[in-house]
Amino acid sequence: MLKADNVTLGYGGRPVVHDVSVEVTEGGVGLIGESGSGKTTVARALLGLIKPMSGAITYGTRDLNALGRADRAAFRGQVQPVFQDGSEALDPRMRIGSSIAEALDAHHRLDRAARDARITELLESVGLDPALAERRPHQLSGGQRQRAVIARALAVEPDILVLDEPTSALDVTVQARVLDLLASLASSRGLTYFLITHNLAVVDRLCRTSQVLFAGRVVEAGPTRTLLTRPAHPYTAALRDAVPKIGGAPPKAVGKVEAAPATEGCAFQRRCPLATDVCRTVRPVAREVAGRNVACHRAEEVVGGQISGAQGG
Ligand code: SF4
Repeated sequence: MLKADNVTLGYGGRPVVHDVSVEVTEGGVGLIGESGSGKTTVARALLGLIKPMSGAITYGTRDLNALGRADRAAFRGQVQPVFQDGSEALDPRMRIGSSIAEALDAHHRLDRAARDARITELLESVGLDPALAERRPHQLSGGQRQRAVIARALAVEPDILVLDEPTSALDVTVQARVLDLLASLASSRGLTYFLITHNLAVVDRLCRTSQVLFAGRVVEAGPTRTLLTRPAHPYTAALRDAVPKIGGAPPKAVGKVEAAPATEGCAFQRRCPLATDVCRTVRPVAREVAGRNVACHRAEEVVGGQISGAQGG
């Protein structure tokens, strides 16, 4: 339904994401990478907030960036963002109930009684006491605020949620509960997720397929479980090893993070303990290896366990 085809994205004419293709399909898609990899830029493009420098983003059969005003409003009703913490989505001056009512009013015509009933139902659906409708965002805990953001996104009955690190601002226990909620909403409401995160364990809960982004390029893509259990790219292996569980810290120690991506050959070479001469001169092209696409000259050896992945820096 929502698709990016070979998009190059950037700011001020400078590309930061190169030739990325994503198809947001049933079962969910995860985009994994550390801070600065370009994943938020891809999410912004899929939300129609930035236009691709090349390639196309389509919603159904139509170019997202050529939608008229009415179609764009319909798109916003069907594809909703949920950001890292509630502060972007919830006006700090508004009560939670009013924030949800605002989203409802933008897409539905309801009388006051029906609107109040819907707010109650939405708060209950995300496990919140409806009495919290009277509170303001700062009077809620981090977990309650993120549930309120999800309730607000659900108010318009979307098909797709674009989740940007939806649990990384939460403590471990609350994080697990919000993930449980998202997993149950996916099945009960037929929601599809496009999830961006640094954490392979989080994506494993919510997305059937995943892509790993390094320095603005997809280095490995395939079934999430395959990537998690038998990574074929040293960067995926390092992410997996750096963040083994839900609640792990961001993967600051994946290779020598201070090393800038190389512009010739493989971008990951300066952080990869497996780099050889060919890695320094020839950019690896994505190819199929053991049930996924991977851009690494030594993918067969990595997936076969003959050599281990990148080590901590
Ligand atoms: S082995 Fe070579 S191609 Fe593969 S990730 Fe390391 S540097 Fe890149």
